[in-house]
Amino acid sequence: MSYTPIIGLEIHAELTTKSKIFCSCENGFGGKPNTRCCPVCCGFPGTLPVLNRNVVRYAVLAGHALGCTVNSYSSFDRKNYFYPDLPKAYQITQAEKPICVNGNVNGIRIKQIHIEEDAGKLVHEDGISKADYNRCGVPLIEIVTQPDIRDANTAKEFVKEIASRLKYAGVCNAKMEEGSLRCDVNISLMKDGVTGTRAEIKNINSVRAIGRAIEYEIERQSRLLDEGKKIPRETRRFDSEKGITQSLRSKEDAQDYRYFPEPDIKPILLTKEDIENIKSLLPELAHIRKERYIGHGLTKEEATLLVSEKYISDIYDDAVLHYVNKKGICTMITVELFRLIGNGADISLVTGEKIAELVKASDEGTISKNDAKRVLEILCKEEGNPLEIAKKYELIMSQDRDATEKTVKAVIEANPKAVKEYLDGSQKVLGYLIGQCVRAIGKGANPAFIKEILLQELKA
Ligand code: ZN
Ligand code: MN
Repeated sequence: MSYTPIIGLEIHAELTTKSKIFCSCENGFGGKPNTRCCPVCCGFPGTLPVLNRNVVRYAVLAGHALGCTVNSYSSFDRKNYFYPDLPKAYQITQAEKPICVNGNVNGIRIKQIHIEEDAGKLVHEDGISKADYNRCGVPLIEIVTQPDIRDANTAKEFVKEIASRLKYAGVCNAKMEEGSLRCDVNISLMKDGVTGTRAEIKNINSVRAIGRAIEYEIERQSRLLDEGKKIPRETRRFDSEKGITQSLRSKEDAQDYRYFPEPDIKPILLTKEDIENIKSLLPELAHIRKERYIGHGLTKEEATLLVSEKYISDIYDDAVLHYVNKKGICTMITVELFRLIGNGADISLVTGEKIAELVKASDEGTISKNDAKRVLEILCKEEGNPLEIAKKYELIMSQDRDATEKTVKAVIEANPKAVKEYLDGSQKVLGYLIGQCVRAIGKGANPAFIKEILLQELKA
């Protein structure tokens, strides 16, 4: 029998603020266990949390990036549960009044975005479990969608789009493999308008695994329903090695979090002006840039490549301010620069202006197409602009008219047979004659320039 999958996502995104949400501990990935924590983030009795303003700013930016309404009033609650990775035995979150509501991304409605703190990490080694509290108090936003998704592919595309928008907004690095973006999937099957019991799959850590987990669940739940069995209400985990989901806990031991208003932190109050001011800091997002690039005459594939990372897109935008050949600039970036990045090159010295100058020099024949690739490689390693570097490495093609004319004349004189063949109508020998000139000139020989002068001399 066929059923309609009803899928909603909860995405936890770690915010990249310098410090944690309620203390001044450094906020970063990894580190020696238990070196980035203090009495506040470890929840020692008697300590008081102080809300990091930047966490609020980042959450508002995320809300704008995901098309949400930002609430002028939001507040914190305590979610109580005991687990060894949470030394306070409660998580500070926003249960009742989240900071953002009613967003929409690709037609998938976002119910809310709330701010909360992350818990620590348990490391299971040699039969013992160790607690690392470095992640305690790392600021998170949780993005909760409405159950608007119907298939695995839409879920995957949605998560990719969320990751891209958070990265462009500059609030999260969205590295799923490091856990800075984690996804929970809620999934049930609907038949004849009746929705079945849902399963919740926790903490999936790659886009691919999200797709596989959803497909597995659709199959598993369909089979149970076909057999006339009931689907238990439960929390499951996805085993990426086996490609299956497994039960973690059932409703019988579902927890009562005993939420209550957090007494130690005041509500967040934002004026309309605050909200608009933060909105003005949001850069143009990838999907909008992509449309703009297609308007530049680039293909959809090229535009997609350019917006894959914001710093790449920024380089392109800077380059096209300096030179008109947008297609040439795009190719220099998406082919040549990407190849260098793929080989591990650090491109922090490469600017849009340098790319523009390089493409222009190549278009004008000052630097050959081949040497332009070499110049780009050197630009990654050395300070200086493309023409300076081309000069230093003797990659400037000769534009010396007198010297080239002299060489061309000598070659014409030395090759009467070839010249005659050309004048009799053979185009093939032209290449041969150009080759002779290139050889005579040696380093810096400019075939396009030689051809121009050769044709002119042959005409005379
Ligand atoms: Zn701390
Ligand atoms: Mn959460």
